[in-house]
Amino acid sequence: MSDYRIKGETGEWEVVIGLEVHAQITTNAKLFSGAATAFGAEPNTQVSLVDAAMPGMLPVPNRECIRQAVRTGMAIEAQINKWSRFDRKNYFYADLPQGYQISQLYHPLVGEGSLHVEADEKAGIAHGKMIGIERIHVEQDAGKLMHDQHPTMSFVDLNRSGVALMEIVSKPDMRSPAEAGAYLRKLRAILRYVGSCDGNMEEGSMRADVNVSVRKVGDPFGTRTETKNVNSVRFVMQTIEYEAKRQVELIESGGTVVQETRLFNPDSGTTRTMRSKEDAHDYRYFPDPDLLPLELDDAFLDECRASLPELPDAKRARYEAAGISAYNADVLTAEVENARWFDALLETGAEPKAAANWVTSELFGALNRLGKSIEESPVSPAEAAELLGLVADGTISGSIAKQVFEIMLETGDAPAKIVEEKGLKQTSDTGAIEKVIGEVLAANADKVEQYKGGKEALFGFFVGQTMKAMQGKANPQVVNELLKKALG
Ligand code: ADP
Ligand code: MG
Repeated sequence: MSDYRIKGETGEWEVVIGLEVHAQITTNAKLFSGAATAFGAEPNTQVSLVDAAMPGMLPVPNRECIRQAVRTGMAIEAQINKWSRFDRKNYFYADLPQGYQISQLYHPLVGEGSLHVEADEKAGIAHGKMIGIERIHVEQDAGKLMHDQHPTMSFVDLNRSGVALMEIVSKPDMRSPAEAGAYLRKLRAILRYVGSCDGNMEEGSMRADVNVSVRKVGDPFGTRTETKNVNSVRFVMQTIEYEAKRQVELIESGGTVVQETRLFNPDSGTTRTMRSKEDAHDYRYFPDPDLLPLELDDAFLDECRASLPELPDAKRARYEAAGISAYNADVLTAEVENARWFDALLETGAEPKAAANWVTSELFGALNRLGKSIEESPVSPAEAAELLGLVADGTISGSIAKQVFEIMLETGDAPAKIVEEKGLKQTSDTGAIEKVIGEVLAANADKVEQYKGGKEALFGFFVGQTMKAMQGKANPQVVNELLKKALG
């Protein structure tokens, strides 16, 4: 358990956090219509008669949306409900032409599950920390109001109206901003591995409602506030920090926290009241009479399960079992594209540990410099395997490999060809190496004296000078042996 505490005047307070994440399901069509869902389209160009709520239009569930929500549920090892139902959540707003949102209150598609967050000692996140998930239900998104197009008028864009969302509701299991951040990062990774949501928070494909309350350790839960639609991990963490402090100060100065909906302001890092919190009964939920209950058969569920990829936890465990450090395994599994590229490299038979070190330092460093994603990498997994093979079989040294890699990036040539043309092969020729060692020691007679007088740290200096004189092409092991001999 995290020991994140807010120090108040009356003692230490614990923060309790639950997140409701809205994740846009990656599909070409909306939840109940065939209209497209591409991001950034001209306003009102992706609107069917269903999405505009024309009278008499009937919703038809999109099988792929249901499939993706079920696969997501399976990825968090949740209970999948073979029988679920859609309800109408009634409210009036200009971006909601139906006058209700089709959602699932009473019988959601996915029941209880859980998610394992990465340990982080510095942030106080223990190994094996699990966050419970209450449910995942499927619902429609609303349209968008545009207030900045005209001085006296507002406009409505219905492109998002009817887009399929998963609402992923966590249990109030998080106890610090860091835990909430780790939960969101892990959830995003799982969604992206599964392929059910692109996890793009800037484009609004994933956003969180942040529920926060405070209590003295051991007390029952306090009253929560819910800050709506927070759209980055950092903003979620800021919301929690601000809200927790605000609530502690409020309670300690004699006030009470009211259950309300709040808004986050990214410019100031603060939250403010939006409206008092509605309860479920305010929405007059009732089963949508236009839709039959969803009934899933075993064949559908089997296909969903069979189509799941290897997930981050399993992948990390496989990497660590292959000798890759926990740190590198973490880095390599965090983004699905990196993991895919690395798996392709492993499939060539590359030695896992050396491959992981090379990818996380050399490749990531180069991509960073070039401003490219791994999918745009100028070097393919097969070419990388060839380069690593040349190091593994002693043809070139590790430092020469760096040079070869630079040339690969510039020219696109194959590593073996570069080594051949530039004469970069490593030499184990003892005669040649002994000759250079003789020169190095003669040029540094004073240091040889010091070494013989007990300053053994100088050995590394002699190795470095010899390697330098041989332009990195000497076999380091042979250099070591011959130097030891020469220095007596
Ligand atoms: P609503 O739709 O009314 O917000 P939900 O049940 O959908 O209610 O979501 C409640 C969310 O608030 C969940 O994520 C839950 O974990 C969280 N939550 C519930 N009680 C508390 C509390 N006392 N402090 C912080 N979070 C809470
Ligand atoms: Mg809510």
